[in-house]
Amino acid sequence: MPQNIVVFVGGVGGARFTRGLVGELERRYPSPAGTDGQNRPSVTAIVNTGDDSWIAGLRVTPDLDSMMYTLAGVNDDERGWGLRDESYRVSAELSAYGVGWPWFTLGDLDLGTHIARTALLREGLTLTEVVARLAARWNDGAGLPVRLLPMSDESVETHVEIDLGAGPELVHFEEWWVKHRAAVPARRFVQLGLTGASATRPVRDALASADVVLIAPSNPVVSVGTVLAIPGIREALGASSAPVVGVSPIIGGAAVRGYADACLTAIGVETSALAVARHYGARADGGLLDGWLVGEEDASSVEAVSALGIRSHAVPLWMKDAATSAALAGAALDLAASLA
Ligand code: GDP
Ligand code: CA
Repeated sequence: MPQNIVVFVGGVGGARFTRGLVGELERRYPSPAGTDGQNRPSVTAIVNTGDDSWIAGLRVTPDLDSMMYTLAGVNDDERGWGLRDESYRVSAELSAYGVGWPWFTLGDLDLGTHIARTALLREGLTLTEVVARLAARWNDGAGLPVRLLPMSDESVETHVEIDLGAGPELVHFEEWWVKHRAAVPARRFVQLGLTGASATRPVRDALASADVVLIAPSNPVVSVGTVLAIPGIREALGASSAPVVGVSPIIGGAAVRGYADACLTAIGVETSALAVARHYGARADGGLLDGWLVGEEDASSVEAVSALGIRSHAVPLWMKDAATSAALAGAALDLAASLA
């Protein structure tokens, strides 16, 4: 049994995968009465915060919240983001005042999270400490089944260079993604604040003690790519002897939810499971991966991925529900075990 599992995640794809991982671990390592899951591997998620922004004076962290709400079981699964049973009265008031981003709707309950986060940040807590405080309230105070760690405590915000006709301009990632629905070509991505950022102590410690590292089927460019860009994270990963297994976010040549294809195109990578594996690279060549799961639709690329020096299997990749997500996480754990 692995002791410490670390998973690199963005928002929705990462949250579904991590929820599946928790379910699979509960199934594989059922907890005898009174042991409180102590006999199970611990899971730590290193979460992208490149999509974070200040909106109406509040610090908003979309991927951390997708993870927190999903793992707390309170997310809106159909829509894919935010809380269930939301209302939007505060957002309507903000719009009437012309404050905030009118195309970026925040639910009333969700705003409670952002106010709490901002208050704690203003008290001087680091984002890592704030996330731990916010996570602690769920499940009747028992907290979340996964430790959430922001990729860094410094602000690193992804911006996108676009041209709407008046020449190149940099806009916040969420403006490109939500307002423009990624339909305007991205010329490049820039992480503002990257040079002043560094891997936190908890992130480095988690990677140092990991015996399995998983790369969730998250956006390879603006989720996983941003996490890996934080100075110190690749080094910490390189120093680890844990096998690194990734799950393709591309199935049969399509980005199944969202616009990962537009992100890949912007950095000159084809939208295919094989091209993303090549982009991440084999560990033996200084890259990221020891193993790579592709969809059954992409079984014909297993050989080409293996030729890169990355062990590959084709498995069902669609995370339709709890059972399919858990089975996918189980396949990733099995591939990691075969590489250990
Ligand atoms: P975001 O931050 O909310 O965009 O979420 P992530 O970066 O975590 O993940 C988004 C990516 O997850 C999408 O671009 C898809 O490629 C991938 N994805 C979403 N649903 C599935 C699924 O059911 N299976 C797999 N393999 N990938 C998925
Ligand atoms: Ca995101």
